[in-house]
Amino acid sequence: MELIFAPLFSGSSGNCVYVGCGDTHLLVDAGVSCARIIAELGRVGVRPGSLNGVLVTHEHADHIKGIGILSRRLDLPVYATEETWAAMEGKVGGISLKNRRVFDKNADFYVGPLEIRAFSVPHDAADPVGYSFSAGGARFSVATDIGCVRESWLKEVAGSGAVLLESNYELGMLLSGSYPYALKQRIASRKGHLANTDAGEAAVELVNRGARRIILGHLSKENNLPELALGCCEAALREAGVRPGADMALNVARRDGVTGLYALRREETEALL
Ligand SMILES: [Zn+2]
Ligand SMILES: [Zn+2]
Repeated sequence: MELIFAPLFSGSSGNCVYVGCGDTHLLVDAGVSCARIIAELGRVGVRPGSLNGVLVTHEHADHIKGIGILSRRLDLPVYATEETWAAMEGKVGGISLKNRRVFDKNADFYVGPLEIRAFSVPHDAADPVGYSFSAGGARFSVATDIGCVRESWLKEVAGSGAVLLESNYELGMLLSGSYPYALKQRIASRKGHLANTDAGEAAVELVNRGARRIILGHLSKENNLPELALGCCEAALREAGVRPGADMALNVARRDGVTGLYALRREETEALL
């Protein structure tokens, strides 16, 4: 069985990723409006009524903005850790008790045929996690909102055929940009976001450990450009002897709509859209 995924929105203004296998359909985060998510799901052929749940990475608005309405409208289970539930209480409106799902990090759980593992990432939220999804020997990971490159999360993502990897900011743009000093410090801190150079370093590690497609995501609207993120990561990979486009695929996720629909079989990805 193929593991299917599609970044629907990715960036500092809102995040949502579709992951599916067979009749099981999940979302990671819902940081844009319910209507926009439903519209993009339609473009990848997924009926909103067929969704089985939404998994939350952390309680920042760009990840949970649409979750309350989505859960209420579609009677959709929401999965988050205990601490994340406590932190999003009051931000998402009422979610019915039967749709509140709590999981433990670092203990695998299943939704249909999808084996799911949540792992801790360094970020300034209550209990931020990334996710790995496995089915039929294929694995896809979502690794965004990460302050620094660390073995603790790299080892969880290792072995994924495809990774949605944060490449949030270009350091020069962040430093010379209009953000207040405190916000610049927060973004560049070890609990903030990954710079393009950090993403390049992580991409080399992940390709060496099995990744064949890296999609750079969660780009800052103010402090990055798709061509800068791509160029920086390409340079890091080439320096490590990896040829993007030949040895592996590298692209940038779209901020405002479906990036592509990808099918992942054992250690390979194929673009369907
Ligand atoms: Zn965040
Ligand atoms: Zn975010």
